[in-house]
Amino acid sequence: MSPAPSRPASLAYIGLGSNLDQPRKQVATALSELDALPLSRVSVASRLYASRPVGPQDQPDFVNAVVALETYLSPLALLDQLQALEQRHRRRRERHWGPRTLDLDVLLFNTTLVAHPRLQVPHPHMHTRAFVLRPLCEIAPHLRLRGQPLEQWLAGLGDDVTPLA
Ligand code: ATP
Ligand code: CA
Ligand code: CA
Repeated sequence: MSPAPSRPASLAYIGLGSNLDQPRKQVATALSELDALPLSRVSVASRLYASRPVGPQDQPDFVNAVVALETYLSPLALLDQLQALEQRHRRRRERHWGPRTLDLDVLLFNTTLVAHPRLQVPHPHMHTRAFVLRPLCEIAPHLRLRGQPLEQWLAGLGDDVTPLA
């Protein structure tokens, strides 16, 4: 993170996912690339987790993680950076929820609500996805979504998300 501007950094939570071309390596590389983003640093990273795909089942399992990112970027500037990073991982957009080398989602950005054609925050599906909630709960167990603790959201979901050794 370069010279601190006079305002405090924002705290964003980013969800990472990969199920193509050595997913563990894709995610591990993305963790260091996130830490190297302009005006940003990773303050905490979860372990890596394995999960079954959401949507089409005829694709490999995913590797997932969540990081807390301290950043001076705006939400949309952060999205631009994340999409550029996905492109560097040669992500191709083929079918909806299909396999991908790297998916980077903005889960939360402080307590900011964003409703923009390119960006919705909090991520609209995060409270329904164990592959997001499990790693998020590891690094930020105190967080609540829609007034309810993460553990409580998780309790209502099938938990086929397991930490990788
Ligand atoms: P899902 O959003 O259900 O996890 P996905 O990650 O497969 O699906 P993508 O193809 O990666 O979806 O992204 C589609 C569009 O979603 C992006 O072009 C981006 O502009 C938009 N988008 C809206 N909100 C967010 C967010 N919180 N984080 C990342 N992208 C978002
Ligand atoms: Ca996603
Ligand atoms: Ca995405």
